[in-house]
Parts: sequence; C-alpha cells; structure tokens
Amino acid sequence: MEYIDPHIHMVSRTTDDYETLAKMGCVAMSEPAFWAGFDRGSAECFRDYFRQLTEFEPKRAAQFGIRHYTWLCINAKEAENVGLSREVIALIPEFLDHPNVLGIGEIGLNKNTPNESTIFLEHVDLAVRHRQQMLIHTPHLEDKYQGTRMIVDMLAGDSRVERGRVLIDHVEEHTIRLVRESGFWAGMTLYPVTKCTPQRAVDMIEMFGPERLMVNSAGDWGPSKPTAVPDLIFEMRRRGHPESLIRRVVYENPLAFFAQSANFRFTPRA
Ligand SMILES: [Zn+2]
Repeated sequence: MEYIDPHIHMVSRTTDDYETLAKMGCVAMSEPAFWAGFDRGSAECFRDYFRQLTEFEPKRAAQFGIRHYTWLCINAKEAENVGLSREVIALIPEFLDHPNVLGIGEIGLNKNTPNESTIFLEHVDLAVRHRQQMLIHTPHLEDKYQGTRMIVDMLAGDSRVERGRVLIDHVEEHTIRLVRESGFWAGMTLYPVTKCTPQRAVDMIEMFGPERLMVNSAGDWGPSKPTAVPDLIFEMRRRGHPESLIRRVVYENPLAFFAQSANFRFTPRA
C-alpha cells in the first residue's frame, strides 16, 4: 500500500533506507528540523542544515520516486540558548519559499522550561506572520502530559493560530484526546523505545477513530525503525481492518494536512 511518513529524519538515514522505504510503498515523507545529537555552535550551522533539508534530501529521495518535504526551526533542546535561537529564527524566512518547505517544525517543548516556552512562542509568531503550518514535538514520558497541556494553552492564547493547520506529534493514550478536542491534528510515533508500538497505535485508532490522526516512524540517528509505518499497516490488516481505514490513516490524512501548505505539490499515481 502507498503511504506517507509525515515525520522522519532522513539526514540520519542511508540511501539504502530510501530504497527500502520506496519498495515498502513510501511515496512521500516530511522531515522536521531537529537536534543533531549535539548542540550546534552557531546559526551558520543551521543555515547549512537548512540547505541540506531543502536542496540535498529532496534529490536523494527523488532517486527512488519519493517526494521529500521539510519543516524548519531550532529544536526545543537548543532553544535553551535563547540568543542562538533568535539568530536561527531570523534566518528561516529566506528558506520559506523553497518548494519542499511545508512550515515551521518540529518546535515544541523538551523539559518544559521558561526558555523553551519563550522560543516556542517566537516560532509560533514567525509561523503566523508567514502563514506557515506548524509541526510540534511534545516531550517524552513523565513530562509529556504537562508539556502537551502547556503547548495547547500557548497556542490557544494566540487567536491568529489556525488549529487545523497545526500537527501536535508524539501523542499517547493520555494526550490524544486533549490535542484533537482542541482542534489540532495528532501524530502517533512508532518507536522501539519510549514511544508507542504498532499495537498500541492500532489500539488508539480503534478507541479514538481516524479523524485528524496520522502515524509516523520519527526515524532518526537513535534507536528507531524507518519502516515502522508498514509495521502498522501489517498490524491493522492482521486485525481485519478494511483497506479504506488503513489508507485514510497512512495516506489520505497526511495528504489532506500537507495540502494546506502553499508549497505542497503532489500528484497521486493513477
Ligand atoms: Zn523528530
């Protein structure tokens, strides 16, 4: 089945991974900017990273017939450095017209600190002023509920935010309701550690329904599985779910969400 992975960090993956993903049905993906595993030394490092995301990765993906989209920001971990963050935010607008840029992301919170909140709000302001969509990271484990609550409250505090153009990612059983009932899209991340398994994700689809819900691998440089979305497809088939429901979650929903971006161009195969 053709599918879209709305959250995967391909700069950390090999060209062989692109080939495997294409063979498993991946036709498009979106790659949010994130933490490199170490704190970068200057805003110029981010300029280079943004060039990698807007110039190199789309070409590498295209070799296998995959459309590559991206989201730009400075991530929550490096947002502790407020001075650097503001320099990075200032250079983002020059990349926004690039044909594969869908918006600002993955912004959000990591440890729910005041500096992270400050930089989150400055990213939100940047996104609204430039009519960009947003992709948002929520914290892990014990910080998740509180961080998700803070994010929803901060977004609700800005009347300019169009909630249907915001994806709040890494939802789990205790946060999915809050996100969707507040009018946002929700992303479930399939991850071998700390986040949810394909089985838990299918349980959530059964419990909460497919409305404004997506699933991603968040494959990156750590323990992760870039082919996690096909694992979910397999699990849904094993439980006897109709192909139409599977397709809605792994293809039609991300397509509907992405299509709200001015830069999004995608022609489904006949
Ligand atoms: Zn990520």
